[in-house]
Amino acid sequence: MEKICVFCEIFDKLLLKETVYSRVIINYCPLGKFALLVTPKRHVSLITDLKKEELIDLVLLYQETIMTINEKFEIPPIFGWFNQGQEAGQTIDHFHFHIALYEKNGNLKLPERIGEKTPISEDLLINIKKIFAQ
Ligand SMILES: [Zn+2]
Repeated sequence: MEKICVFCEIFDKLLLKETVYSRVIINYCPLGKFALLVTPKRHVSLITDLKKEELIDLVLLYQETIMTINEKFEIPPIFGWFNQGQEAGQTIDHFHFHIALYEKNGNLKLPERIGEKTPISEDLLINIKKIFAQ
């Protein structure tokens, strides 16, 4: 049986914005307060698998997403990164940039991938969708 890719199959509920080649989705089980993922529509594993036009579209959407966050959330600390391959900690085999936000007074160290990851609340999900729909 082929493994389901959550970014290809289950993105509807979490979709914030899309362009020709890319999507911004909410990380359903974030490590921080909330986290977003910017991902190509085409299923590829690595950044090196992307075509030039896909990569340009993706990076522009990444920048735009950070600008939206800056505008709406009073410039919170933002962490952005990607994991290139399983050995680098990539858990979903569909390339994605991470955007994680932390409380201004919180611990700015990235949390380790241990312990409980809790799904974001429905209220927060609705609020974030509203912000990106403006
Ligand atoms: Zn996929």
